[in-house]
Parts: sequence; C-alpha cells; structure tokens
Amino acid sequence: MSRLGKKSIIIIALVALAIIIAIKYLPRFFTTVNEVELLSDQGISDGPYVFLDDEQATIKWISNDALYTKDIGIADDIQMHGEVNYQFNIEQLHALVLNQRDTYSNVSNLAVLSDIHGQYDLFIRLLKASSIIDSNGNWNYNDGHLVIIGDAFDRGDKVTETLWHILKLADQASQKGGGVHYLLGNHDIMVLNADLRYINEKYNDVEEKTGISYDQLFGKNTLMGQWLRACPVVLRINNIAFNHAGLSMDMVNSGQTIKGINQTFATGIIDNNKDSIRADKELALLARSSGPIWYRGYFRDTTLTNASIDSILHHFNVDHIVVGHTSMERVEVLFDHRILAADTSIKRGEKGELLIIENNSFYRAGLDGEKKLLW
Ligand code: CA
Repeated sequence: MSRLGKKSIIIIALVALAIIIAIKYLPRFFTTVNEVELLSDQGISDGPYVFLDDEQATIKWISNDALYTKDIGIADDIQMHGEVNYQFNIEQLHALVLNQRDTYSNVSNLAVLSDIHGQYDLFIRLLKASSIIDSNGNWNYNDGHLVIIGDAFDRGDKVTETLWHILKLADQASQKGGGVHYLLGNHDIMVLNADLRYINEKYNDVEEKTGISYDQLFGKNTLMGQWLRACPVVLRINNIAFNHAGLSMDMVNSGQTIKGINQTFATGIIDNNKDSIRADKELALLARSSGPIWYRGYFRDTTLTNASIDSILHHFNVDHIVVGHTSMERVEVLFDHRILAADTSIKRGEKGELLIIENNSFYRAGLDGEKKLLW
C-alpha cells in the first residue's frame, strides 16, 4: 500500500472517530437547562412536579403563589433554585430512580433515619450535624449509605423539598459509590393510594392552584410517582433488615420473603383499593396491622420474647431489624440488640437522631453531631 493510501486510511479513521465522539457527547452541550425558581417570600412555593410523556415532559411549580407550567424535552435539564438547589437531567434521574435493589452487602458505613413527615429543616440539620452532607447540602458520606425508613409524607409542609433533597443525595451518592435508599411507610402508601387525610393544608392550596389532586401529583405518570413505586418496603443491607414498622410472626408463618413482600406491595397494594386489599388474605396481612407498614408488635406485644424475635430474624436471614413508625425520644435498642427503633420523633420538628452503623459498631447521633455508642 502506498504511503498516501495509509495516510488517507488514518485520516478517515480519525474523522470517523471524531464523528462518533461528536454524536455521543455533543448533545450534552446543547441540553436545554430549564430554570425553576422557587420563591416563598410573598407566598407559597412548591414543586417542581415532573409529568412524563414519552419524549416530552411537563413541569409545574409554584413560586410566590403563582403557578408556572412548561413543556420540555425528556433529555432536558432542570435547575431548581430554592431551598433545594439541584440541577439534574430528567432522563438520567429517571433511569436512576427506576434502578433499585432490595439487597446490598459489604457496606461498611450506614446512616439511618425515619419518619421525617415534612420536617425538611430538621432533616437537613441532622444530616449536616453528622457530616452526612456538607454545609451546602451536598453528599459528604463517600461510599456510605443513607437509609430513610419511610413516612416523608403528611403532617409537615416541606414534603416536596424533603423528597427532592433525597433524590439529589441519591444522585450524588451514586456517583461516589454510595447509596441513598428510601423505604415506603404507611403514610407514603396512603398518599399514593389517594388517602389524603393527613396532608398539610399547604398542599390543599397546591391542589387548588394546580387543579390536580395531591395523589395525582405523585401519579404513575410522574417522576416522583415512578420513583416511589420503585422503592422497596423491606431492604436488607449486610445482616440487617430495614423496614418501616416491623416484620411480624404472622409474616413468618405465611412464608413471606423480602423479595415477595416488595413484589406484593408493588403489584397488589399500591394503586389498589381498600376493598380488594381487604378481600385478599395475603394483601390484607401485608397491608394491615400485622404487616410491614403498620405493625407495632415490637413495642406493644408483651408476648414477644427474644426467642420469638430470633425465629423472625432466622426466617429473614438477618441479625437485626431496624424500624421506624413508632415514635421514641431517641434511637432505642430492644430485645437484646436484635431490634433497633429509629423513629426519633422528627415529626415534632424539634429534635431527632440518626442511627449510625460504622464498621459493625452501632451509634446514635443528634443535633450536636456527637456519636454515642449504643452497646
Ligand atoms: Ca408510620
């Protein structure tokens, strides 16, 4: 082959490579960034709510009492300016929220909290105090994992801010080899199933301004709705099961598994109506007071012994179960270290604690950030 021939082949190869790189990366430079300003100095702010429709999305948000609606592309970015400052690509975040697992191993650092109930400010203060996030609210826990055991919804007036910040941290943690896990609680599932008895009055205002009922703001066609519907009810990390209310003897006796429970919630309980749930024995068991989102047996059933807890642990193949749902003054250790209670009454908006598990040692940490060894 002549020298000229070789040269042309190299040039053609380089041009082809340049074209491939341009096709892959150039669209990122042309991504539209949609600015979402959330001002609340002269009225309420809320959102954004992202409605997905194939290649399109519609975003709605409220700033100083005024409703804004914008049709955008699914490959666009959104930049939120408000209590949560967060820029994300809709398509990428959508892929992230749908990709959830219910089992992790070899996690050495873990922080846990529960039952935020719209108390966004306290949630952020607690995470900052333990340096899980930095002073700007960004992920600061490297490859550690943060587990939130449900009930971000209802009671308080900063539910949306809480959910967006959880997504922001999930996004940032995933880039550092860490993880943020949201588990569904009874109040989360109540909202998804349109039981809106406990929503803060601010959200009645949001319903009125958007003309959309609160449950439909988290409907199946929304980014948040799809995320929540992909969240597990029970999560296992290392030798610990995390779950909103508790795993009961009734669940053991009916042969439930972690995977099976998550599947039954996703396909049979969420988006189902009360009557059909009640009519089905398995759905009724899991959705009601012996199930993982309402159970209070660890705190109220005086017949439970260490031996019965052991058979529950053995059945689910874990050494500890961490629950929220039943409010305590601090992180409590029950049944000789088998059960940990992590709902520390954040819902009152005054104080609360994180459960921190680092290198197999268990600690609690409050607003002063001081880690106290639990045992
Ligand atoms: Ca609860």
